[in-house]
Amino acid sequence: MTPYEQLFQNNRLWAEEQLRADPDFFNRLAREQRPDFLYIGCSDSRVPANQIMGLSPGDVFVHRNVANLVNNVDLNVMSVINYGVKHLDVKHIIVCGHYGCGGVKAAMQPRDLGILNPWLRNIRDVYRMHKAELDSLEDEARRYDRLVELNVTEQYTNIIKTAAVQQSFLARGYPTVHGWVFDLRNGLIKDLNLDFRETLRNIQEVYDLTGTVWR
Ligand code: ZN
Repeated sequence: MTPYEQLFQNNRLWAEEQLRADPDFFNRLAREQRPDFLYIGCSDSRVPANQIMGLSPGDVFVHRNVANLVNNVDLNVMSVINYGVKHLDVKHIIVCGHYGCGGVKAAMQPRDLGILNPWLRNIRDVYRMHKAELDSLEDEARRYDRLVELNVTEQYTNIIKTAAVQQSFLARGYPTVHGWVFDLRNGLIKDLNLDFRETLRNIQEVYDLTGTVWR
């Protein structure tokens, strides 16, 4: 059996296992999804969203791309946020980066990377905005780790700039947005403990899309 063919065998075993544990599992799954969480993470194969959070199918709405970017002209991520907030009523939006991120590493190289240039430019912009802090870190590994964290913080901020998040929070008190970093070295999630209300208040001085002054 080839590794590709193995996937179908894995799938049959998985489906049987689910049914054994819960005969109603697929009936429930087929009816609807009502996840409380929207997770935006890196495409890296070592950071599987459901598994690191211990969640089952139906528990989390997921979007992944190279280096977990939330770019405001990316229709893909913007559609995911809009749908997650307006139709799925998610209560939390998590942007999760990870140490050892190849996308962040690539953005630290002074090289032409072809089609990746415009994508990674978003991370080079993060570097520029925090150049003083990053350049003050002599150890390159620490600088790399810190850029991963700052990139998460910037993408977290980008999520809060969206009309969907601002308007929903004003009307219903959710979702709140969180920034995390996953550590491949120990499997643990680090919450950057970013202050959502404080960030929202600061952002709305310039990016308010609710037509009100939020307090
Ligand atoms: Zn990555």
